[in-house]
Amino acid sequence: MMSISPKLQLQQLILLQKLDDEIAEHNNLLAEIPAQIDARQEELEAKKKVLTAAQAEIKALQDKRKAIESEVQSENDHMAKAKTKLPAVKTNKEYTAILAEIDGIKVKVEGLEDKELEVMEVLEEKQKAIPGIEKDCKEEDTRFQEYKAKKGAELERMKQELDVFIAKREKLMEQIDNVVVQRYEKVAKSHNGKAVVSLQESICQGCFQQILPQVVINVKLGESIQQCANCLCFLYFEEVSEAATPK
Ligand SMILES: [Zn+2]
Repeated sequence: MMSISPKLQLQQLILLQKLDDEIAEHNNLLAEIPAQIDARQEELEAKKKVLTAAQAEIKALQDKRKAIESEVQSENDHMAKAKTKLPAVKTNKEYTAILAEIDGIKVKVEGLEDKELEVMEVLEEKQKAIPGIEKDCKEEDTRFQEYKAKKGAELERMKQELDVFIAKREKLMEQIDNVVVQRYEKVAKSHNGKAVVSLQESICQGCFQQILPQVVINVKLGESIQQCANCLCFLYFEEVSEAATPK
């Protein structure tokens, strides 16, 4: 292998760092996507639960109505039975007793019918609300499916981009000096993935410490590999533009 100039090595390191930043960012974003989809699905499930609860409430009211109706039916049967006894009555006392029984049943039936009307009113209100809730659910479902498809496409695109970055990295690794790579990996590992940072106005952008003037000169020259004495990051010079300088 031909010996590589320090200048080229530095350029390779800068490129390696850029690729590793992209790879890390893509991995982070890829890891977030399933949770993002889950969160949206939970929103949809919450809306579906509102619909299920409303439908259950309607079912309960319908059951209640049926129960009242069957009670009315049995009271009416009771009344019909009481009425059949009337022709056979022999005394006034008996007659009065049966009429009182029939009146009692009538009162009971009226009470039940009032109760049924109340239930029917509530039922009608609840049923009126259903189409709105259903529409809400359907719309949320459509939005969720769109979101899921969008995120799925994003995931695929990111995976493809990630593959490209990984392939580029492998190719770069073949050209880069092994010793330099090992130093890079070591610093990156202990420094949250950051091994190559810029030097801005004598400040290391890895640890934000002041760099010695002689090192600053060497970094600016760019003819040698320089590392920060504090955080060991590889340093390269980055000209701060006038516009970017805070006033
Ligand atoms: Zn530093």
